[in-house]
Amino acid sequence: MKVFLPDKSELELPEGATGLDAARAIGPKLAEQAVLVRSNGRVQDLRLPLEDGQPIQILTTRDASDPDALAVLRHSSAHLLAEAVRRLYPGVKIAIGPPIDNGFYYDFEFPEPIREEDLPRIEEEIRRELAEGRSWTREEVTADEARRRFEAENEPYKVELVDTAEGPISFYTQGEFTDLCRGPHLQDSRPIKAIKLTGLAGAYWRGDEKNPQLTRIYGTAFYSQADLDAYLERVEEAKRRDHRRLGPQLDLFHFSERSPGSALWHPKGMVLFNTLEQIRRRENAKRGYSEVRTPIIYDAETFITSGHFPKYEDLMFKLEVDEHPWAMKAMNCPGHMLLFGSKLRSYRELPVRYAEPTPLHRNELTGTLHGLLRVRMITQDDAHIFCTEEQIQDEIAGIVAYARYLYELFGMSASAELSTRPDNKLGTDEQWDMTEGALEEALKLNEIPYEVAPGEGAFYGPKIDLHMEDVLGRKWQMGTIQLDSQMPSRFGLTYVGADNREHPLYVVHRALYGSFERFIGILIEHYGGAFPVWLAPVQVRLIPVGEDHREAVHELQEQLEGLRVDVDERDETVGKRIRDAELEKIPYVVVYGDKESDASLAVRKRGGEQITLSLDALRAEISEVATL
Ligand SMILES: [Zn+2]
Ligand SMILES: [Zn+2]
Repeated sequence: MKVFLPDKSELELPEGATGLDAARAIGPKLAEQAVLVRSNGRVQDLRLPLEDGQPIQILTTRDASDPDALAVLRHSSAHLLAEAVRRLYPGVKIAIGPPIDNGFYYDFEFPEPIREEDLPRIEEEIRRELAEGRSWTREEVTADEARRRFEAENEPYKVELVDTAEGPISFYTQGEFTDLCRGPHLQDSRPIKAIKLTGLAGAYWRGDEKNPQLTRIYGTAFYSQADLDAYLERVEEAKRRDHRRLGPQLDLFHFSERSPGSALWHPKGMVLFNTLEQIRRRENAKRGYSEVRTPIIYDAETFITSGHFPKYEDLMFKLEVDEHPWAMKAMNCPGHMLLFGSKLRSYRELPVRYAEPTPLHRNELTGTLHGLLRVRMITQDDAHIFCTEEQIQDEIAGIVAYARYLYELFGMSASAELSTRPDNKLGTDEQWDMTEGALEEALKLNEIPYEVAPGEGAFYGPKIDLHMEDVLGRKWQMGTIQLDSQMPSRFGLTYVGADNREHPLYVVHRALYGSFERFIGILIEHYGGAFPVWLAPVQVRLIPVGEDHREAVHELQEQLEGLRVDVDERDETVGKRIRDAELEKIPYVVVYGDKESDASLAVRKRGGEQITLSLDALRAEISEVATL
């Protein structure tokens, strides 16, 4: 038989050859370093036979940042963790231990609860295993054998897994530890150069709160100590940038127990909010959108017509008005449908682009609320574009270009996910070819990298989810662009064509920031609170050295009119006031004492640079970067 290598060359192998055999045929070094076989995007254990004609890629310890190579390393590390825990805690019961983003975990039922302080001891035991060395062997067994084994070991969770398993059952063994596992696994433990247990949490067996609560031990592992160190540094940096910490510290917003999930915005936070709003208005105006304003509460009938009841009913705040059921809007579409439907529309009016940023309310469960990232009062930069079938392509292209423009303002790169026709789709395949094609074309035109999520679209149309990558390399889901023919027809909306007949309408729902709240939360973390000058709530802080300098400083403030300037004239030392300005990450700080005058100002820039500038030069320098 033969298989194909990534360079398309053929490799002849004896019948039944495994991935490891293929690696050996290429070279002993490769075989030693091999960790995994990848084939058409799927991963395969090195120990399993290859198929005739199969394309293969052999991953090695050098693919140290490949997600699949990391997953097999971490999954193998989870097995070492389970072995260590079993040795240290007789009577413990083991559940499951998969790799996850950035690491792995294993769930256990401990005879006595353990604490964070116990983790170093477990880590020590894993290090001992690594020093001794472990290699993994794989065997296939029958369900009866597997059940007998785990019953004998008194492992009820494993017995349950055997009873609900589909397909062949395999065991992986290292040292004295055997686990029920589909694999894949490393050949041996040598590639695991760095491992760390990172935390403890409670987790219900199979995620169901009716089941017993287990203890989940989290960890991570890498192919080198340097990679682990870099990862831990990123985690620390993310903590320092956490918007839930920086928001109150920078006096931007806070949350109150009196209305969980709805931010109370402080004046400085509103500068961020309003700057985003100015950009939204300016760009919408340039791109032919019309600003509208629609009600916040509607009778229940409206949401039945729109289709949001009963599907999203639980997410909406309901109220009773004049003994009838009403609800607060969780989305703007129904209002925009009513507005558009207020008169008969001609094809000459289309496309119509309605934009509206009024607050929406969503009854998110308190347990899922997360700072500004998941809130109950949410402000979307929402718009609905009503158009004909022929206009879809241009409209989508315009929206994607708009999104790209916005994200680049903030120095973030965009990527996208295109969700295509699901099994329960409405409409013909030809229609879907057209609409999916329009979305895909727009992404290509704007050079936005994208992945296709087959079958993930809504039944009424395909969708683009926009993602941004921040300065720490984290990806955030931002805006969405959703094509829809259903909602207009539910509201009986049509347009009169050139042929004087009524035709069906399309609507595009789109939000590009996503929501102001979420976007600001992400920006706070992206910039670590050190906003660019045009976005900074305070652009210049003036610090008079003594009481005698206050008057001059206030005159200076007037001279800098148009910029966001404040004065710190507290009875604190100059040093303390400078430090506070640094903590607030203010871009320019001017300290004014006896030696200063309009001709010569002592300016400290964020980051530590100290320069002397005339007032005119300072004003010119800041004005250049103060607006966008
Ligand atoms: Zn496993
Ligand atoms: Zn909508």
